[in-house]
Formats: sequence, structure tokens, C-alpha cells
Amino acid sequence: MAEHEQVIIIGSGPAGYTAALYAARADLSPLVIEGFMWGGLLQQTTEVENYPGFTEGIMGPQLMQIMRDQAERFGARFLTDNATRIEPASEEGGLHTVWVDDESFEARTVILAMGAEHKKLGVPGEDELANGRGVSYCATCDAAFYKDRETVIVGGGDSAMEEAIFLAKFSSKVTIVHRRDEFRASQIMLDRARAMDNIEFMTPYVVEEFIAAENGALGSARLRNAESGEQREIPMSGAFVAVGHEPQSEIVAGVVDADADGYVAVDGRSTRTSVPGVFAAGDLVDHTYRQAVTAAGSGCQAALDAEWYLRDNPLVPTPAALEGTGDLAQDQWFHHEPAGRPQPAGGAQRARSS
Ligand code: NDP
Repeated sequence: MAEHEQVIIIGSGPAGYTAALYAARADLSPLVIEGFMWGGLLQQTTEVENYPGFTEGIMGPQLMQIMRDQAERFGARFLTDNATRIEPASEEGGLHTVWVDDESFEARTVILAMGAEHKKLGVPGEDELANGRGVSYCATCDAAFYKDRETVIVGGGDSAMEEAIFLAKFSSKVTIVHRRDEFRASQIMLDRARAMDNIEFMTPYVVEEFIAAENGALGSARLRNAESGEQREIPMSGAFVAVGHEPQSEIVAGVVDADADGYVAVDGRSTRTSVPGVFAAGDLVDHTYRQAVTAAGSGCQAALDAEWYLRDNPLVPTPAALEGTGDLAQDQWFHHEPAGRPQPAGGAQRARSS
């Protein structure tokens, strides 16, 4: 039989690494295809104050490094590359194929944990002035480029407040442009932003266009009052768009069921997708809570669902004559593992002697 993986995890935010930790502790030696930008959105965050267990908070990248190390300690393996295609098994219990460009990997179960990415406004000038020319989606990454300059944040959620507070440490003035007078952000974040001297609020305004200055970089934006229709152009060196996220489900489009926004559909409170043996967790599934801790929790669920699926779908069904002699499904995990991993004695011996 060709060598194959028991579990492939695609993605490496809190969901992916927690799934890896649980699958590794179940002795499934998961392969994590973690992407070039491993660590997910927390890799672009500064202080995380709401992940339980860290009284004083922890930096996002440090939290992701700890989660990765913890999974590795129990046998998770990592491929720092992007999965490009998935071909599901043709029958329940069969092998799924995951592609990384021209290289393919077969697995009995796949956990999808690709997360979500920053949403765009879709206005003229946005794409043209991105990538170092003034329009950005990550203040944590780019704020230092705007020291003593005027910047704008677009959005009214917690991300917008967090980005504005961070940006205000560098910029001379930060204007939060939001399309409504009410904010989706939590009260504590809103209060912190309002307490900063150099943060101003401009509502209800929408951005209609980002405009280049003579040097080709962002110079201003044309805004429209969402109620009166009045238009105005305001100068800025940097604009940070913080209007939510989009699930990264392109590689499974048409493979597993998804909703109209691209979020992968799961069966009830489980992580089972429409394809048996393929599970989904984290922001790829969740458009409601989207927290590091909820993503981690659903990564744990996905690993348990995968483990139960492997148990219930043994590669070789237990012959009737052997029923009651032991857990043959578990024996099969140990028999068909990737090369180089030590064979636990108990389960494998039981299969050989039977
Ligand atoms: P949200 O979905 O909460 O907020 C998105 C904001 O962008 C909303 O104010 C929305 O406006 C606005 N918006 C959306 N589309 C457009 C558009 N096309 N044009 C203009 N404005 C638009 O996303 P966040 O990323 O802020 O937060 C996601 C989750 O992460 C939340 O649960 C949040 O609590 C959490 N989070 C927590 C943090 C913390 O605790 N430190 C930090 C960051 C995020 P409208 O309200 O009108 O729909």
C-alpha cells in the first residue's frame, strides 16, 4: 500500500495549531501544511489581552510560536508552504489528495483551517495604491512608516479601534472613518480610542476613492457622507482598511459545501464538512465569533472528529471472526504511519498475533 498520512491539517492559526496538538497527542503524527505566512492573523497583531491563561497579555506572534512549539513537541510535522489543491476521496474511508504545487500528499483525513483574510473596500485607487504606496490592511505591520504623518482608519469594529490605537503612537493624527454613527466595536475598545488625543472620528462617511499625490503615493481620499451625500476630499499619507475578513476557502471551492460568503459549511455543532473525512475549523467556518480562543476550541473539535472518523472507518474492516479481540482501527493507525516514526508496541503486536 502506498504511504499516506493519517491527518493533514491545512492552515496554521489557533485552529490549525490546536488541531495539530490534539492530533499529535492522539499519536496521529499530523502533517501541517502551514502556509508561507504561518501563524495566521495573530501574526499581524500586537498585544493579545483576551486569550485565557496570560494574565498580562501576550504578543500575537509569540502566542502562535508557543502553539506551534507545543504541537511539535508531540510529533506534529510542518511544511511551510501553501496547499494549492485538494482532491477528495471518491468513497467514504478513502484517501484524499492534497497538492502543494506539483507535489501531492495522500491522507485519510484532512482538517481545513485556512482562516480568513482582510476584506477590501473595492473602491478606485485601493489596489493601485496598495503594497507600500499608502493603502494598507495591517497597521501593526506598517504603522512605523507613518511617523508624524496624517493617517486614516476605515471601519467601526474592534479591529479598526485596535489599529487606530496602535497607529496613533506613530501618526500625528488618525481619523477613523466609519459608515454609520453607531459602532460595532466593543465599548472598552471604543473608549480607549476616544481617550487618545490624536484620534478623531468622522461618521457617517464612506470612502469613494483613494487618490494619488504627484509622487504616485497616496495623497488623499474622496469621502461621501452616507446620509446627506455631501462629498469632501481629505489629505492623508496612509489609509488602513479594517472592515472585516473574508474566509480563505478558494482551494476548496466546489469541493466542500460553503455558504454564499465562502464560509465552509459544517454539520451542526461538529466540524464535519459535506465530504466524509474532511473537517473544517476556525475562521474558515465561523463568521460570528472569530476569536483566537473560539478558533482554538474548534481546532480541538476537528482533531477529535478526525480521530473518531479514523476509528470508525478502518482501512481494512475488522473481519467478523476477529471482532472482540481488540481495537483493530487503532492497530491500523500504527501500521500505516509515515516512515521514520517509532512503532508503539501494544496495538501493532495485537494485530500481528491475531
Ligand atoms: P467586524 O465585522 O466586527 O467589523 C467590521 C467593520 O467594518 C464594521 O464596523 C463594518 O461596518 C465595517 N465595514 C464592513 N464592510 C465595509 C465596507 N465595505 N465599507 C465600509 N465599512 C465596512 O470586523 P473586525 O475585524 O473589526 O472584528 C472581527 C472580530 O474580531 C470581532 O468579533 C471582534 O470583536 C474581534 N476582534 C477583537 C479584538 C480585541 O478584542 N482586541 C481586536 C480585533 C478584532 P458596519 O458596522 O456598518 O457593518
